[in-house]
Amino acid sequence: MLFYLAAVFFLVPSLAKLFHRVPLYYSDTIQPASITTVLLNRNYVHKKLYSTLQKTSIHFKKQHPLRKIIFLDANFPLGREFPLLPHLSHSDGLKIDLQFAYNNNLLPTTQSPTVSGYGFFENGNNSMQAYCNKKGFWQYGITEYCTLGTLHPNFSMAPSATADLIQLLLEQPQAEKIFIEPHLIKQLGLKHPKLRFHGCHAVRHDDHIHFQVR
Ligand SMILES: [Zn+2]
Repeated sequence: MLFYLAAVFFLVPSLAKLFHRVPLYYSDTIQPASITTVLLNRNYVHKKLYSTLQKTSIHFKKQHPLRKIIFLDANFPLGREFPLLPHLSHSDGLKIDLQFAYNNNLLPTTQSPTVSGYGFFENGNNSMQAYCNKKGFWQYGITEYCTLGTLHPNFSMAPSATADLIQLLLEQPQAEKIFIEPHLIKQLGLKHPKLRFHGCHAVRHDDHIHFQVR
């Protein structure tokens, strides 16, 4: 166990530098939803994405002092040959999944509603799942089974803070695109050419934000 931890915190970060990747840890402005993300080396991003996230998280903290950017799966440390399953596209270090801003009984929280951070759907409109399932994309709602347990069923998405976070991400010069479910784009009152629907071949994006830079 000690050897593994030494490798995770000392050896792997140095190897990752060869691939221009940097680990994201806990800070005042950004942190993982779960320590497991760090222990499994799923917290690496390309240095371009790293600096974009640092800048965005500082702005976000200024707007919402009680909140932080909470990240879910990012990338593995060692190059494109190791895609971060089940996210096939998370291989180049330029993609990361972020948690919505949540409230616990109307108060801001940095905790996650589920153990994995995934699968806590905003159920306002399920029609995209029905549409994709009908087209044969059975996997569209599969993250429902990837929660590893619900911790806080009473949490609710904070619409204005989530919209602010997405807006800040969109304003970053390196931002390439953001995937969230179309009904949420509408609900949050957002409009931007970089906000896209991910397609039926992916999974539902009404439990997290997928952000990528170029
Ligand atoms: Zn993603």
